[in-house]
Amino acid sequence: MTCGVELLAPETPLQTVVRIMHSKRHSCVVFGQEDMPVGILTERDLVGILERILEKPGLAAEPAANFMSSPPCSVSDDQTLFDALVIARANCVRHLPVMDASQKLVGLITQTDLTRAHFRIIEKQHQLIEDAIHERTEQLLAANAELQSLSMEDGLLHIGNRRAMEVDLEHTHARAIRYKQSYTTVLLDVDYFKAYNDHYGHLAGDDALKSTASIVKNTLRKSDRAYRYGGEELLLLLTDTMPGSGEALTRRILKQLQDTAITHRKSPHGVVTLSAGIASYSPGSKTPDISWQTVVHRADQQLYKAKEAGRNRVA
Ligand code: GH3
Ligand code: MG
Ligand code: MG
Repeated sequence: MTCGVELLAPETPLQTVVRIMHSKRHSCVVFGQEDMPVGILTERDLVGILERILEKPGLAAEPAANFMSSPPCSVSDDQTLFDALVIARANCVRHLPVMDASQKLVGLITQTDLTRAHFRIIEKQHQLIEDAIHERTEQLLAANAELQSLSMEDGLLHIGNRRAMEVDLEHTHARAIRYKQSYTTVLLDVDYFKAYNDHYGHLAGDDALKSTASIVKNTLRKSDRAYRYGGEELLLLLTDTMPGSGEALTRRILKQLQDTAITHRKSPHGVVTLSAGIASYSPGSKTPDISWQTVVHRADQQLYKAKEAGRNRVA
């Protein structure tokens, strides 16, 4: 990470911020008071703001607080590089303030830092492979296992894997508590999938699963994330989303899959379908102290109800 990051006061006029970024060659600035970050403004944000300023030049004199992203998406200083990569990717951000246990800023992970770290991983991977080739097969297998452990993606479905899902849920949940935000989890499970495999074969099963995952991915909004929870089960993580809109989105996914009509002769629905269980975390609820594991467990209980009620439905 980049250390010694200066915090600017959120009241700083936007034009002063731009001048500072330009003269110091910063790709972003963090705003806050007494080492506590409250917002962030990046070059990418500025490009978005520029259009508004061209229409109304007076905006440039307004405080940066009116333009910054707040609260900033951050990581804590005890999190790993893998965690930071997952969090940056899941939240589509290129700058991550790093905070200590007392929520004070200790540094900033920039896109350059992440790219450098990624290169180091790739170099390490190359080194591991080369070393292993020169040694025996067991070492190659061990290196392969290590490569797997660095992967964030499921090899078959090309969505986040279970490990990345846990990092994302942990981070999203902590953020929801700190900033009093809601999020929704959806557990999706392919219906009668064992029968599909038994009838059409495991490879055809893989293809059906891939098509299902890609329909799910294409129906999601940009800020939503899909992970392979296990087997033929996917988990959707919908940030800043209450159950109502999560349910509408899930219904769209189920309909989209049904309309795609992947023939499934062993299902009473005639085509491949999904069942879904939804559960949300809401800071205003009666039980705001629950863990993310409890939220997922509740989604799982709902999924069970959807299955019981006849499948191809949302509970
Ligand atoms: P339900 O409607 O209750 O969900 O029934 P189901 O048959 O889908 O559920 P069950 O848990 O009995 O079977 C899940 C099946 O999913 C069994 C397993 O072989 C299959 N499966 C899990 N992962 C994969 C995979 O990656 N590829 C293929 N082809 N099949 C998979
Ligand atoms: Mg299942
Ligand atoms: Mg199933």
